[in-house]
Amino acid sequence: MAVIGAGWAGLSAALHLAEAGRAVVLFESHAQPGGRGRSLDLHGARLDNGQHILVGACRQVQEQMRRVGVDPAEVLLTLPFGLTLREAGAAPISIAPRSTGMLPMAQALFRTVAREPLPVRIRTLVGAARMLHRSTVGDSTVQQWLRSCAQPESLTRSLWEPLCLAVMNTPPDSASATIFQNVLRQTLLGEPEDAHLLIPRVPLGRLFPEPALARLKELGAEIHMQSRVRAITKATDGRFHLTLRDGAAQVTVDQVILAVSPRAARRLLPEGHETADTCRRLEGLGKRSICTVYLRYQRLPDHLPPLTGLLGQHGQWLLPRSVSGEPHWAAVVISAADQPSGEFHPIRWETVSRELAETFPELGPAEEGHAICEREATLDARTGTDARRPGPESGIPGLFLAGDYTAKGLPSTLEAAVLGGVQAAASAIG
Ligand SMILES: Cc1cc2nc3c(=O)[nH]c(=O)nc-3n(C[C@H](O)[C@H](O)[C@H](O)COP(=O)(O)OP(=O)(O)OC[C@H]3O[C@@H](n4cnc5c(N)ncnc54)[C@H](O)[C@@H]3O)c2cc1C
Repeated sequence: MAVIGAGWAGLSAALHLAEAGRAVVLFESHAQPGGRGRSLDLHGARLDNGQHILVGACRQVQEQMRRVGVDPAEVLLTLPFGLTLREAGAAPISIAPRSTGMLPMAQALFRTVAREPLPVRIRTLVGAARMLHRSTVGDSTVQQWLRSCAQPESLTRSLWEPLCLAVMNTPPDSASATIFQNVLRQTLLGEPEDAHLLIPRVPLGRLFPEPALARLKELGAEIHMQSRVRAITKATDGRFHLTLRDGAAQVTVDQVILAVSPRAARRLLPEGHETADTCRRLEGLGKRSICTVYLRYQRLPDHLPPLTGLLGQHGQWLLPRSVSGEPHWAAVVISAADQPSGEFHPIRWETVSRELAETFPELGPAEEGHAICEREATLDARTGTDARRPGPESGIPGLFLAGDYTAKGLPSTLEAAVLGGVQAAASAIG
């Protein structure tokens, strides 16, 4: 069986197949595994292509880590659910319930809207309870949904908008309320640990992609890095021919899991009436960018929390990389970095450093910086996305799709990628 793509989805699929005793051959066009969640070296520092944050509800990710001998408790820093947000010249906003029980959550929300008149505060609480407990009807935007649940602008700005951007990488005025509600429910209505925020203590590659590749080798899988698959053709005997980068080499396999991005999947999927619906669905999926700006400081203040929300500037989250062993570097995350017009202008690190110093004068200007912008970081999780995305079946028997875009109900995240991989492997084995 061939798996194309060694991102988190492809690696998860390959592991399941290999553990089920299948002969697996894995193709990856890059030199290292991990895809959109990978490590990189930047001026002597080991960083990632983008700062990643998980929540306790990412159970599939943690399960996969354990499968390859990585203990999530060791490699992930666990923070209680809560947010601290900072804005230049304003008092910090802290939304920190003692637990995710109804009463502590209600008290924390009540404190956050303390400046609103009492009737507004009461409507806010009733509306927030409705957001968790009453299912959305149809699929509206998050913004419309928040209004219909009586959430005041002040709370939208300080809580719901940052959360929506962090979770969906799509602004509330177009993001799908159904997916957002699903994530809120999984995080806040499950076990208490589901709401924990998890920050990697090691570079991303060591969380899963590198140990997964090592485990696949142990299980006898054939691994071809720097091997781009150029075309997939279905032979008359029902098997598949994969054409590799040099064009000359062909590999023949019984089944294929295509674990690449939606755009790459569309290019590789054989045309025909069997795949027409899947191709239409893939073409209908939009993309969103994320920029991670890494800033290097002579010394980061010790009091900097592992995660701070930022208001009123380009960046939305600040994370000192001392958490993952790089004491001089800080990461600033800019979600949905596309312009409303759809154009994309990479941000200058100097601008982010200046804005940050206005909020944290003790930081001063960064010594150096790098902006790493991923143009196709995630799906555009706009309204109606779930109805458009394909599942693991491509339409051709024996050819399956896996990725962060195939796991319905979730935004494109590591959890969705791993789940997509596991689902595709289950379909292939089934
Ligand atoms: C900057 C950034 C920040 C993010 N932040 C978070 C976060 O905080 N939390 C979170 O959970 N998620 C986050 N994500 C999303 C998460 O990284 C992705 O959802 C996930 O990595 C997608 O995995 P995948 O395996 O589905 O796809 P990919 O990672 O895209 O994997 C596809 C793989 O296929 C390979 N490939 C493509 N074409 C071919 C070919 N023809 N032949 C062979 N190989 C091929 C690619 O090189 C790649 O390795 C972030 C993503 C980015 C970019």
